[in-house]
Amino acid sequence: SQRAMALAFDVNRSTIVTAMEELLSYGILESDFGGGTRVKSNSWSLLMSQPPDWNKYISSGPFHANLPTIQTINKLEFEPGYIRIGTGELAPELYPNKLVTKIFRRMPEVVPHLGYLGPLGLPELGRALSERLQLEQGIEADPANIMVASGSLQGLQLISVCMLKRGSRVYTEAPTYLKSLQIFQSAGMNLCGIPMDEEGIKYWNIKGASIDSLLYTIPTHHNPTGLVMSEERRKALLSFCQKNCLPVLEDDAYGQLWFEEKPPKAIKASDKTGSVIYLGTVSKTMAPGLRIGWVVGPEAVVQRLGDVKMQTDYGASSVSQWMMTELLTSGDYDIYLDDLRRELKGRRDNALAALRRNFNDMATWNRPSGGFYIWLRLNKKVPIDKVFHEALQHGLLLNPGNIYDYIENHAIRISYAYADPEDMTKAIEILASIVEKYD
Ligand code: PMP
Repeated sequence: SQRAMALAFDVNRSTIVTAMEELLSYGILESDFGGGTRVKSNSWSLLMSQPPDWNKYISSGPFHANLPTIQTINKLEFEPGYIRIGTGELAPELYPNKLVTKIFRRMPEVVPHLGYLGPLGLPELGRALSERLQLEQGIEADPANIMVASGSLQGLQLISVCMLKRGSRVYTEAPTYLKSLQIFQSAGMNLCGIPMDEEGIKYWNIKGASIDSLLYTIPTHHNPTGLVMSEERRKALLSFCQKNCLPVLEDDAYGQLWFEEKPPKAIKASDKTGSVIYLGTVSKTMAPGLRIGWVVGPEAVVQRLGDVKMQTDYGASSVSQWMMTELLTSGDYDIYLDDLRRELKGRRDNALAALRRNFNDMATWNRPSGGFYIWLRLNKKVPIDKVFHEALQHGLLLNPGNIYDYIENHAIRISYAYADPEDMTKAIEILASIVEKYD
């Protein structure tokens, strides 16, 4: 009986009553009116088959769930039948497939590289990157200043979790790259969006930077606005940050993808005091599936990141690193990159022409000098969420501007890297006919 159990185990009676009610609700005990309460014959197997309360687990941990719009985009990007005018990724036909096949054929000769590598990466890749950074961007970086990451976002993540305290202030351009925002958010940073003008971030609006703050910037072919920070602004920004002891995290994912003329040098190239950490990636120029990026910074920072990388995933994929080394050191890569720039420029011109024909008095937009993005700012306060859903019904998948921003905006990020020119032309016509209704 409940009383005997309470006496025997010296437990409060109400605890036992609650426990019994719970067991009854699981169906492990059974009771009938006047007949007492018994343990059901198959109760153990019932007890063992109760699933854990996954919902409690799922809602735990530091990561916020993606917004519903972002979840929809992430899901539909893997479904056929949509024209994707927002996808910030090269179209499959633009990847260097032949080059990769050629390199993979040689793979069996390099079996030793299939082992674990040191956390800073394959030494040959470190050396190849060091040479390229110097030659192409004027960045002085020894291999000891470079850590190869599993994509540049991982570099950002490692910096967030091992170099910043929770609650530290992180300044970013407003708007900025969605996934970087999410990384900082999940790591518990206090985000602060700084507006931009045609020359880049208006750094003079940075107020109250404390000793543990940081500035994250995408100066070249900015995501999502497509802007390039001017040379003067880069210099002024660096000197402001140095004076205020504010470290700079420079994300240069698109720096190599210029069309007519080279953009100004990376901020890191002028950094004589070790104030800038630089992030590079192969995802926009070649293949995001390789998951290769790099972090360039003072040796102590790189050592710390390497130590944490070791605790995280034991280093980036050795096959991908080997492949990257082969690519970078073969002359074929530069030929490919030239072709890619030409192709993207053609796609940009086509998208701009379609916008001129269809959006002339409904929106304003930038003429990107490289990278993937046109930031289409609608003149009227058009409800972008409604446009997003209506566009889906017409087979268009787009990226609404508000997912990149701190405040509501009426913009759409267009990427000409994914949809082919014919589809892009069609998509812009459809989009205009949707937006027109709200104009
Ligand atoms: N930074 C920026 C600004 C980007 O736009 C992207 C890709 N969308 C990345 C980083 C992602 O880089 P990775 O694939 O190397 O993690």
